[in-house]
Amino acid sequence: MQSITDQGHIFLAFEAVYSQQMIQDKEALVLRIKQLKKEKDVVILSHYYMPAELQFELTDGGFVDFVGDSLGLSVQASKTEATNILFCGVKFMAETALLVNEGKQVYMPDPSAGCSLASSISAEDIRGLKKQYPGVPVMGYINTYAETKTELDICCTSRNAVAVAASLEGDKIIFVPDVYMGENLQKVIKKELGKDLILWNGSCEVHEQFRNFLPQMAADEGAELLFHWEVPEDITGIMETGRKGIVGSTGDILKYVQQSDAKRFYLASECDLSVALMKENADKEFVTPCVKCPYMKQNTLEKLLDALEAIGTPNESAYRVALDKNVIDAAKKPVLRMLECSN
Ligand code: SF4
Repeated sequence: MQSITDQGHIFLAFEAVYSQQMIQDKEALVLRIKQLKKEKDVVILSHYYMPAELQFELTDGGFVDFVGDSLGLSVQASKTEATNILFCGVKFMAETALLVNEGKQVYMPDPSAGCSLASSISAEDIRGLKKQYPGVPVMGYINTYAETKTELDICCTSRNAVAVAASLEGDKIIFVPDVYMGENLQKVIKKELGKDLILWNGSCEVHEQFRNFLPQMAADEGAELLFHWEVPEDITGIMETGRKGIVGSTGDILKYVQQSDAKRFYLASECDLSVALMKENADKEFVTPCVKCPYMKQNTLEKLLDALEAIGTPNESAYRVALDKNVIDAAKKPVLRMLECSN
């Protein structure tokens, strides 16, 4: 049986948390969700940081059409033929789904689910940066609100940031808002493209917590290390001591583990990414201090069902993501430019 540690305690095995137990305990709920999504023509998209029960895919007998990272979900959102999108993630992600799906309705189980990183910068802040560095292109992480995206030249995700940077002219790029991701990216971008990044001082409150666990990961010498770009550079610097592993996007981490011969990994990213890791790598063991994003965890199976019940009724506005037309028109440009770059 596989396990991950929850603040030092042995915590639920993948099989128990994700499938058999959940089906038994919540069977009625799952059946109702499946019925409603069909009746109301809803596609359900779910981020890798969702609680395990919200990563329960159709292909496994569940109800989620697609589980993915920010880029994967943006692409899926742009391709869907369903009339309605129910987005299990945080608000900037659902807004992005709306930007690439004009005319469709986008809902969330809990539209108040925010993000510390997205909140760390505003459109006004970017206007200030443009005045300070005239002519320098602004590349914004997808983890920004739509209002902020209206001032970006192009978006990027952790998966395509280097390719997006390569598409920009000049030897300087303003990168916002994540200072830690920026410091990690700077090394790669300087080496591969010879460009410098001008950074903003935003951060993700989840990934910066891995500072507290450096001694633990250093001591676990048998484990390969899995770092998201958003982990501070002074922690990812442990890789320079010869430790094996990866600093990359969620997609890079999943790919790396599949291709590695190692049997034990230390995960320094959001705890529930371990659901997909364990699902895809049944013969490997994962250890993590299990740092959870409180915003992602505002989504629950019960709230998802409430949102589905509300779609098409007078209560649906409580779950619908709404943006002004002028914000949509301006904010979708950097997203579409990014998607062109990713094809
Ligand atoms: S993990 Fe960090 S970046 Fe992602 S939604 Fe949570 S606070 Fe935002």
